[in-house]
Amino acid sequence: MEVIRSDEYKSRKEHRCNYCSGKIKKGVIYANAFIVDQGDSWTWKAHLHCMALTTMLGMDSWGDGITEELFEECVREDFDEHFSTAEKALMLFEHLKSEEEKPDESADN
Ligand SMILES: [Zn+2]
Repeated sequence: MEVIRSDEYKSRKEHRCNYCSGKIKKGVIYANAFIVDQGDSWTWKAHLHCMALTTMLGMDSWGDGITEELFEECVREDFDEHFSTAEKALMLFEHLKSEEEKPDESADN
């Protein structure tokens, strides 16, 4: 598997995260990579926090054999081992904060 390019973009429309299958909202920074593997190629899109999680959990990035179910299983199983209560609280706080700061999609610009 070869990552031809990977970068962070601001989404111009709504995408779906290839890890958690959650929505990547319009106007947020997300990870986008172009992958080539044995004649196949695909674009991988993911939340930055999902990318960070795969790195922290030591999973292969860019979806090499990772399904949504496997991702969730790994996150659930490893989460308790890897992080202290304080770290989990901080992550929850950051998550809630980022939800609050999402851009108003109804605004004209
Ligand atoms: Zn995600």
